Amino acid sequence: MSGFYRLAGGRIVDPSCGRDEIGDLFVAAGRIADPASLPQESWERIDASGCIVAPGLIDLHVHLREPGDPQKETIASGTRAAAAGGFTAVVAMPNTRPPADQPNTIGWIRERAKEQGAVRVYPTGCLSEGRKGEKLAPLGSLRAAGVVAFTDDGGCIQDAGLMRRVMEYAAMLGLPILEHCEETSVSGGGTMHEGYWSTVLGLRGWPSLAEELIVSRDILLAELTGARLHCQHLSTAGSVRLVREAKRRGVAVSAEVTPHHLALTDGALVDYDTNFKMNPPLGSEADREALLEGIADGTIDLIASDHAPHCSFEKEVEFDRAPFGVVGLETMLAVSADALVKTKILDWPALIQRLSTVPARILGLPGGTLTAGAPADLVVIDPNLEWIVDPQAFLSRGRNSPFAGWELRGRAILTMVEGKIVWRL
Ligand SMILES: [Zn+2]
Repeated sequence: MSGFYRLAGGRIVDPSCGRDEIGDLFVAAGRIADPASLPQESWERIDASGCIVAPGLIDLHVHLREPGDPQKETIASGTRAAAAGGFTAVVAMPNTRPPADQPNTIGWIRERAKEQGAVRVYPTGCLSEGRKGEKLAPLGSLRAAGVVAFTDDGGCIQDAGLMRRVMEYAAMLGLPILEHCEETSVSGGGTMHEGYWSTVLGLRGWPSLAEELIVSRDILLAELTGARLHCQHLSTAGSVRLVREAKRRGVAVSAEVTPHHLALTDGALVDYDTNFKMNPPLGSEADREALLEGIADGTIDLIASDHAPHCSFEKEVEFDRAPFGVVGLETMLAVSADALVKTKILDWPALIQRLSTVPARILGLPGGTLTAGAPADLVVIDPNLEWIVDPQAFLSRGRNSPFAGWELRGRAILTMVEGKIVWRL
């Protein structure tokens, strides 16, 4: 019978209920099945021995570039890259052309994702009209159109009074704000972290303060308004400290970090390679250590890719002129394992929790669990598979990876969305 699978002999890891055991997992008619309720002979057997069977990964921070820039990425190519990376759902950022600040754009994205998406796509809506930071976007109609959160990602509302009103509305509508924390009068013109390396390389520095000012402002505003604040791509030690203190006080704040901020520092820019240019910039080794500590103690809730594809010709220019951003969907799992599991900061179940169960919980999305009856959104990971990152082989249209040539261990060998195989290595 088709659609009936027996994933046999794998290590079943389900952080939603603390399950971690060798066994068989059954999928029937798009859902995780209870084997006792169905006859055994009709299952298609998939060997999962030596592998981890886990809930599908969920990425809260992806730029699919559609509508507007299909030469960089499309919903079709971006979601195929996601499936190859072990993801079953991605949250799409609204800095498209046009920006996702109107219900009809959200409708277009949802329709397109239904037709062409290999994995689930959850759109976000802008906080401000055109992401200009001047006027409120129609938050209520955006929610009605199906957005899962509000964000001006790539930009940040500078006016604290407007941000307060945005938070009041978001709190009323019950949706979180995903904040790109950047005070642009401080970061203005910077292309890399301000510190030793920016002086050595003669590049305009971007002070940590630019991020920390907004993290602290937004924590205060979230406390005042009761809005749920999620700080995107934390990159500095000071930001980790601010979020840690806020959580202790009981403020509704969560945070994410990217694999590249966990694995790399500003010293990587020594060759002026634009594939290491991203926003926020790579920090110092002290920042990186603080981010690892933040992941370890739960201050940072989850890992998100900030997958930001660009055309090669756009990146093949002088450092100052290149756009910010790197791709990440197809390397996130292995780079995270390299930074966190190999170093024994997290074990595999804890890593999967931060890549699946926690992101699902923070946005209230389906997934992140393997309990019977749940949609069969899952990934089979071979934790020992060694491979070399070759951006030319990516399913993403973007080749702008800072990890080209890296020897990594661990890879998704099968991804299933609602019981349908969307990736098989
Ligand atoms: Zn951002």
